[in-house]
Amino acid sequence: MSLGEFQLIERFFARSLVDRDDVVLGVGDDAALVKVPAGMELVVAADTIVSGVHFPHDLAPELIGYRALAVNLSDMAAMGAEPAWFTLSLTLPAAEEQWLEKFSGGLLELARAHRTALIGGDTTSGPLSIAVQILGLAPAGTAIRRSGAHEGDIVCLSGTVGDAAAGLRLLKETSRSSAEDRSYLIKRFVCPTPRVELGKLLRGKASAAMDVSDGLYADLGKLVAASGVGARLDIDAVPLSAALSRCFDVETAREWALAGGDDYELCFTVPPQRMDEIRQVAGQLGLVIHSIGRVEATPGVRCYDAGRPVELQLKGYDHFGR
Ligand code: ADP
Ligand code: MG
Repeated sequence: MSLGEFQLIERFFARSLVDRDDVVLGVGDDAALVKVPAGMELVVAADTIVSGVHFPHDLAPELIGYRALAVNLSDMAAMGAEPAWFTLSLTLPAAEEQWLEKFSGGLLELARAHRTALIGGDTTSGPLSIAVQILGLAPAGTAIRRSGAHEGDIVCLSGTVGDAAAGLRLLKETSRSSAEDRSYLIKRFVCPTPRVELGKLLRGKASAAMDVSDGLYADLGKLVAASGVGARLDIDAVPLSAALSRCFDVETAREWALAGGDDYELCFTVPPQRMDEIRQVAGQLGLVIHSIGRVEATPGVRCYDAGRPVELQLKGYDHFGR
């Protein structure tokens, strides 16, 4: 059975599961109204996920819902912002109740976990794609940009990278590895954990930050380019999860760690004297921070393995590049 647009919104997206005093007007009018407290800046980001491009066509609807919001929360994390509100622009091939129930369940559960309110959106028909715009808050002047890295800063990474690329591969092949490793890696792809708490703690400490969505090597390149500097990347210091190392040979694991994308960890730069403090705050969140390189004056990213320079043929994901 298919639903009309109005019923669909009413039924699946109008329920206010997150109560925020700063939402003056939510879903239902021509636009939403929110209050931005004095002294705060509005931090705005948008990310669209398209079926067959960012996730497989047959991915479970609750995971598609989760992912649509998670990648946007990750942008807030990268800025050190507190997510507050979001809009949802849905393009659907058909209004299928069961699909929508699960999709909205996955999406709204994550929204609730981050106290982020759905305040509006748009619904149209067409090939499946989900566009979220997220709005967050940061004390004026404190949001972490890509452009603040300085020569001598340490390049840091939260968690491990390469897992999501491995997970995507494992979704497509059945034979390999233990059930436990498979499920760990697949989960890292389908349910990335946005590092929102870490991002907030990095405010005033990290000199620059971004989330790793297109591959560490390419994303670090963007960060240092924005800062007008370069970096040394010690590829043997880039952390691999135990599951990734067990399931794939070291070359493949490294290739994915550097160029795989979709990990949604934070890559950030820190003045050396602040490293202890950073490790301590991350430790409180149960996160390990790895030091993986150094900011240098010369533009570009240079890779080293066991202290020796190496040339890599890598490329981050570029939607129009290949
Ligand atoms: P308009 O025609 O004025 O653009 P719509 O009929 O598209 O309004 O939407 C009606 C209301 O429902 C608006 O408040 C809009 O923000 C909201 N809305 C539409 N689609 C969604 C959605 N997928 N999720 C949440 N809110 C939605
Ligand atoms: Mg209108």
